[in-house]
Amino acid sequence: MTARDDRGSRTADAPHAIRNPHSSIRITDVHIHIQPWRQLKPAVMETMRRGKEDRFEFLLALMDDPRMLLRIMDDDGIDRVGMVNYPSPDLMGFTNDTNDFAARYAAADPRRLIPYGGVHPRFAKDPAGEVHRLVELGIRMLKIHPNHQCFPANAYTEGLDALGALYKACEDLGLPVLIHTGTSIFPGARSKWGNPMEMDDVAIDFPDLPLVMAHGGRPLYMTEAFFILRRHRRVWLDLSGIPPKSLLGYFPRIAELERQILWGTDWPSPGVDSMRRNVDDFLDLDLPESVKRAALETNPERLLPTRADSAGVLAGNRTAT
Ligand SMILES: [Zn+2]
Repeated sequence: MTARDDRGSRTADAPHAIRNPHSSIRITDVHIHIQPWRQLKPAVMETMRRGKEDRFEFLLALMDDPRMLLRIMDDDGIDRVGMVNYPSPDLMGFTNDTNDFAARYAAADPRRLIPYGGVHPRFAKDPAGEVHRLVELGIRMLKIHPNHQCFPANAYTEGLDALGALYKACEDLGLPVLIHTGTSIFPGARSKWGNPMEMDDVAIDFPDLPLVMAHGGRPLYMTEAFFILRRHRRVWLDLSGIPPKSLLGYFPRIAELERQILWGTDWPSPGVDSMRRNVDDFLDLDLPESVKRAALETNPERLLPTRADSAGVLAGNRTAT
């Protein structure tokens, strides 16, 4: 059965769900980068361009046109995507407009395109108010990028009060927080703040906050990442940025995290050529079918339930556990 053959199937909550042609799984990729690349600082833009010179114009156009993305998702058999955005005006070049960009882009198909956004605690004047504004915009996950925003994820324990206010507002609203862990190669990025151990404080101090660890600390901090994920069973692991063929090398006991793993690719970041190829490589791994389905379909659906439109943001987020 091909994705196209299956596209007409309907379920109560997901009309026209797209299924991967190789399986019956309805895939959500919780971590791709659809961002206002035209805001990037020149040196960052050069890093982004490296290795994809032949298709860079195409990718720039993709960031302007959601219909292009929806076609790629159809071809790759991907039903839904989470679009990572966050402000990093001084390092990457992304301003607060990145939030409006994400919400506008997602409006092309609110069921399939899930916008993420951010509030920068070093620049925000009213962090809690800005979190509320994100929710009103329809943003469904808040991204914290310690390497690109230049503070550790637990910096509220050492005086960055705005970060604590931001986590508290997300906890009150049930808005999930996605925290980058691991390294970053962009100019100016501080990889020392990619250690997942700092999420220990956050998980303890904000017990009802839905927390997602991106990248499992790859490639330096997998031991710490696994410890945090086993200690705090409500913390999710987003598999993006980990080459699927290396996943069992990095996390030999990944199956123990069946209820916590979320499929993600980081496409089109350096080294990730297609969403589809990563899915195929993941499906080839020697893992129980239940683990694959949990990552690709059921766990993303628990954290980010399918919604037909952007209404009911608060209710939708509150059902996530
Ligand atoms: Zn990413």
